[in-house]
Amino acid sequence: MFDLKTRDIKYLQGVGPQRATMLNKELNIFSLHDLLYYFPYKYVDRSRLYLIREINGNMPYIQLKGQILSFETIGEGRQKRLVAHFSDGTGVADLVWFQGIKYLVGKYKAHEEYIVFGKPTVFNGRINIAHPDIDQAKDLELSTMGLQPYYNTTEKMKRSGLNSHALEKLMKNAFALLQDSLPETLSPRLVERYHLISLNEAIRAIHFPQNPDQLRNAQYRLKFEELFYVQLNILRYTKDRQRKYRGFCFERVGEVFNTFYSQNLPFQLTGAQKRVIKEIRKDVGSGRQMNRLLQGDVGSGKTLVALMSMLIALDNGYQACMMAPTEILAAQHYETITNLLFGMNVRVELLMGSVKGKKREEILKGLLTGDVRILIGTHAVLEDSVNFASLGMVIIDEQHRFGVAQRAKLWGKNVCPPHVLVMTATPIPRTLAMTLYGDLDVSVIDELPPGRKPIQTIHQFDNRRPLLYAGIRKQIEEGRQVYIVYPLIKESEKMDIKNLEDGYELICAEFPQYRVSKVHGQMKPAEKDAEMQRFVNGETQIMVATTVIEVGVNVPNASVMVIENAERFGLSQLHQLRGRVGRGADQSYCILVTNYKLSEETRKRLEIMVQTNDGFEIAEADLKLRGPGDLEGTQQSGMAFDLKIADIARDGQLLQYVRNIASQIVDEDPTGTAPENEILWKQLQSLRKTNVNWAAIS
Ligand code: ADP
Ligand code: MG
Repeated sequence: MFDLKTRDIKYLQGVGPQRATMLNKELNIFSLHDLLYYFPYKYVDRSRLYLIREINGNMPYIQLKGQILSFETIGEGRQKRLVAHFSDGTGVADLVWFQGIKYLVGKYKAHEEYIVFGKPTVFNGRINIAHPDIDQAKDLELSTMGLQPYYNTTEKMKRSGLNSHALEKLMKNAFALLQDSLPETLSPRLVERYHLISLNEAIRAIHFPQNPDQLRNAQYRLKFEELFYVQLNILRYTKDRQRKYRGFCFERVGEVFNTFYSQNLPFQLTGAQKRVIKEIRKDVGSGRQMNRLLQGDVGSGKTLVALMSMLIALDNGYQACMMAPTEILAAQHYETITNLLFGMNVRVELLMGSVKGKKREEILKGLLTGDVRILIGTHAVLEDSVNFASLGMVIIDEQHRFGVAQRAKLWGKNVCPPHVLVMTATPIPRTLAMTLYGDLDVSVIDELPPGRKPIQTIHQFDNRRPLLYAGIRKQIEEGRQVYIVYPLIKESEKMDIKNLEDGYELICAEFPQYRVSKVHGQMKPAEKDAEMQRFVNGETQIMVATTVIEVGVNVPNASVMVIENAERFGLSQLHQLRGRVGRGADQSYCILVTNYKLSEETRKRLEIMVQTNDGFEIAEADLKLRGPGDLEGTQQSGMAFDLKIADIARDGQLLQYVRNIASQIVDEDPTGTAPENEILWKQLQSLRKTNVNWAAIS
């Protein structure tokens, strides 16, 4: 048995050096293994013959059997085409070619039996089939043809004749060479228990299914395997980490927590907040290190949960630290938390790049003596010079700005890694979270504090601008503030600014009596923060910005969010932006401004935004509309999206199912040594070796 992965594609019959280079470059196919795992994107049923009489205007690819009655060349120059009048005795169809006319006339003959395959169109009562596939009827045995695979190829490949058909032939050659010798990659126990077909059968049937049932079985087996290994990989890492590192055990809830709860808590916790705090208490009391993701829509009250988690650490003699992605957010957290802890004698400090000199030294010293019990800051807290007496709990706010590497760095801040709570306001559908953050446990705050007025979302075409400006004016007159956001145009940073500058000038001219702030991504962070701060302080009434304001800033007095060119934003991004308003007691508005001409998909997206404020509903819709690759936070993870056959948006149920199976295996075989699982651990190792993204998980 040879190793498919080291078997160069070059040596497969029908390939050779030139085609090999093409396959390498265009499809990333280097080995026989790569080729076999290049799956068709669709199939066409070639087991049934249609009659010309049956053809109507709306049919997929079909197959006819009959004879060419005569040929005809029509038109001149680029219009020139060859028409073959084809009949099966029940009617006539015109086969049409625009290219290769000379060659075709020589190749096909009148009054011979052919099988014609193509997509019919009906025009003026005549049936046309453009560029059909034609085979001699005697060469084909229809009953054995089953479904025909279609492969994606690039323009370059097609130009050199390496089209879908050519790939199909290469697949056939590969199978001839292999002769059913593909080694199994799941354990016999799994194959049997979950009624899977063998890998050998599945790979063959995914390329050449005899019938739809067989195809479904093959797809199921391959999706099962793919998702299973993604989950086994994540769960294995988690298990190994748990075995290697124990976590601090926070056994009790004590004075600090209780005092806060009974005396300082300014309102009743929502049911969801209570549930999540319970989940966290259970985690940190288990003796294992907590790695938990806290998801909650903007305004759902995550800060309070973070604070109360930190207080548990304090009660057990440990320090806590909270990180935010920007200085302005860190400063806001500092202010909120010192206010909440008023009168409680808990020293809280704020550390960021701009804190220097004596103040900084004081903080660093306080951290070492344990005098500083809560540290709030930016990335600056990760620096080597920042050392704690005993750090027990870390909160990371707005997770997608912190990579895995930074999370790992935190673990080094104590003899034993502190508990970690990652908070995000980007709702991620459950299935996606399981894959993206599969090593994290997930808690969800799915309830807003009472008394919030839902934000009203309105879609407005940009020819109604006067109306929009009147609305803005009215809000400002009532003392409110307004955001106006322009899309970031990735292809051209200059364009991006121009868009914003034009908008800024327009707004200044429209509202000469008000002060307007302007913020964009190319400003220096300090400059940006200063301008933001002016808006926070109410010195300016209108904030014109690109999406840099997306994350976290809290201005309860802002009641209008205008999003220009809303069609350019993804759903999750629109939802994030909308979350900047609706933070105070007043009715807030989100205005989605677009051009009149919109695609069907855009229309749908905007409709969803107008209809719901529920972040999870929006995230699910986004996942379905765009697929997982485009969703926020997925780029740096990548690993879920090497998926060749499974689709996180559609195969969520299967994902949950195989996760449970993988979890059971990891629990039953915590050291990864049980003989009946040998094949699984071997396969996992081999996947980790060949899959860059998999190796990057910590
Ligand atoms: P986010 O989840 O977006 O970080 P915050 O923690 O900033 O949300 O909370 C948003 C607002 O809701 C804050 O002003 C906070 O004081 C308030 N809040 C939080 N929890 C409650 C609650 N249980 N009842 C009433 N208001 C709450
Ligand atoms: Mg927050």
